[in-house]
Amino acid sequence: MRLVVDLNRCQGYAQCAFLAPDVFAMHGEESLLYNPHAEAAQREQVLRAATACPVRAILVEDPDDAPDRVEEEGLSGVR
Ligand code: SF4
Repeated sequence: MRLVVDLNRCQGYAQCAFLAPDVFAMHGEESLLYNPHAEAAQREQVLRAATACPVRAILVEDPDDAPDRVEEEGLSGVR
């Protein structure tokens, strides 16, 4: 999964680093470091962090999930 943080919006509240410490980390008081290519297993944490961000600075893109879903639907239609 891919994610982007709008660092112009980010106010360094650190909610994301608290909720998804494997993906987000504060560097000093205000700058945020993050992994833009988080593992699928970290999805729950990342979504929770995105929801909790007070300024909605975290954008989650999930292009890898969409083809799987379409494929599953296709298979179930064949059965
Ligand atoms: S929760 Fe939002 S505002 Fe706070 S550090 Fe994370 S991205 Fe920035």
